[in-house]
Amino acid sequence: MNDRSLISVVVPMYNEETNIGLFYTTLSEAVQTCSAGFEFIFVDDGSTDTTFRVVDDIARKDPRVKALRLSKNYGSHAALLAGMRMASGNAAVMISADLQDPPAMIPALIERWRQGFHIVWAVREGRDDPFLKKLFAAAFYNLFTRIALKDYPATGMDFGIFDRQVLDHLKTFSENNFDIVLVIMSLGFRQSSIAYHRQIRHSGHSKWSMGKRIKAALDLIVSYSYTPIRFISYMGILVSLTSFLYALFLIVNTLVFGHGAGGWPSIMVTTLFLGGIQLIMLGILGEYLWRCNDQVKKRPQYIIMDTIGFDEGPGRQREPCKEG
Ligand code: UDP
Ligand code: MG
Repeated sequence: MNDRSLISVVVPMYNEETNIGLFYTTLSEAVQTCSAGFEFIFVDDGSTDTTFRVVDDIARKDPRVKALRLSKNYGSHAALLAGMRMASGNAAVMISADLQDPPAMIPALIERWRQGFHIVWAVREGRDDPFLKKLFAAAFYNLFTRIALKDYPATGMDFGIFDRQVLDHLKTFSENNFDIVLVIMSLGFRQSSIAYHRQIRHSGHSKWSMGKRIKAALDLIVSYSYTPIRFISYMGILVSLTSFLYALFLIVNTLVFGHGAGGWPSIMVTTLFLGGIQLIMLGILGEYLWRCNDQVKKRPQYIIMDTIGFDEGPGRQREPCKEG
């Protein structure tokens, strides 16, 4: 960890044509004062706009810039994994392209890494996101820290620096449906954090649709918690106990008080209640089973279609037909 260290900056990009220029300039200025060398790995996660062309233009002028283009949109976690596996630095920074995570913090992350930490997280101390997004994020993190990882910061994190040892480990990581932050966080090593204030997006809108967010939230819970399965057992016990008590009530009511059992409305209520519970339980089991199924098939976590600046790989390929 000396001054001659090389730092890779890995940036996932999905339709970020309007942000790349300013992001690149801000990043270049931010690392100017650092004594380390840099490579910037921009990963185009199957963009349908001119993201890859803009990156290509920058790479032609700046040899520090390298790029990967994935064959389709795999999500930023897969894009980050692809970039970090290709990183040749002594450490790699992961950061988003929309300037929500300030590149100006990179020197502080490097400084902390140099103090001997393998993993340094930039932890959000606040966020300038819209109200509904803040509410959704707060509710999810609250639930997640209760049922899965207690140490996961309630404000979330997706910006940090990781040592070569961590990067090497990621090369053999073979799970699908993963969350890169949790994967790295659960590796252990010496970890530290620095607080920062998350900005609003520079331009464009979040590339995480509600559907993607729900899928990611379920991935997190299913990967790190068996609470939903335990919930099934508890519900089973509760429903059995309730039906036993109800049966007892009916027997006593008939034999002691001479009142016959109620008619079909009570049967309907019981049937619908049990049917609903069973469908929820099947859904929970299905979430786990579907991920096992996906894993067994050993589908690739991502496919790299083009590369720029790497010795190995397909190199610059022709432009796709659908570019703006
Ligand atoms: N991103 C990506 N693939 C996706 C979605 C997002 O590579 O499918 C990139 C995006 O371009 C950005 C980073 O991941 O650089 C964070 O995404 P975004 O800002 O949309 O997420 P948010 O900050 O709203 O959680
Ligand atoms: Mg963002």
